Amino acid sequence: MSKSVLITGASRGIGAAAALSFARHGWQVVVNYLRSEEQALAVCRQINAAGGSALPVQADVSRPEQAKTLVETSVAAFGGLDALVCNAGIALPQMLLTDVTDDQWRSLFAADVDGVFYPVRAALPYFVRQKSGNIVTISSMWGQVGGSCEVAYSAAKGAVIAFTKALAKEVGPSGIRVNCVCPGVIQTEMNGHLSSEDLEALRLETPLETLGRPEDVAETVRFLCSEEARFITGQVIGVNGGMVI
Ligand code: NAP
Repeated sequence: MSKSVLITGASRGIGAAAALSFARHGWQVVVNYLRSEEQALAVCRQINAAGGSALPVQADVSRPEQAKTLVETSVAAFGGLDALVCNAGIALPQMLLTDVTDDQWRSLFAADVDGVFYPVRAALPYFVRQKSGNIVTISSMWGQVGGSCEVAYSAAKGAVIAFTKALAKEVGPSGIRVNCVCPGVIQTEMNGHLSSEDLEALRLETPLETLGRPEDVAETVRFLCSEEARFITGQVIGVNGGMVI
């Protein structure tokens, strides 16, 4: 029987690329989105037209009850759940920490930290019961090394790394693997505010002298959920062209 994966924030960017990658490898995919309904439907149409199986589900993963319903809907849709990819996230504009407002801080941590905790907490009972499951969280290279004018984002993404490591220890004996992927500069709408000069400077700063594509991250995520990665857990994997080593 096909395996199934729930990917949060799969309407565009890295999440959408992950949905397409899993589907190409025979997985059934739940495509979660918040606001981009048309884009989520387009991802699902592409998968279903190619003979795969995808279901769009709207939910705000920063809200506990919505995250719980999202997981329950995913389990019901495909008769179980084998993997959860916590990809949904937001970033703030670059700014000094002293300019970050209370609301900005709270909304960032809601999306990027609560938005990992709630779906994971909802999915764990299923994974524990079946004594298997894969969780992949998406952090950032800034969560590994910290970025100037990205203090709040770095702190939130650092929390995701610590969450991943601790959870891997806690649920390893239940046959559940938990890993974290830290993208570098990936060309998605999240970086849409950067000028072509900024992007060129970032490219030149990158040892491989190229910027990342959503597919680069997506393939790593899918690998971590595959049987080939059966002995990998609690790891933090950079997909960043060598920007952070
Ligand atoms: P993106 O293109 O901006 O897409 C973000 C996705 O997250 C969208 O599908 C969005 O849904 C969803 N989302 C946001 N808040 C949500 C919520 N509360 N509930 C449900 N879905 C929500 O971003 P991306 O570049 O693909 O980034 C994906 C992940 O990689 C994020 O965690 C980001 O922090 C991380 N990352 C990205 C980069 C990069 O360079 N792009 C680098 C490092 C880390 P809707 O559009 O439907 O609202």
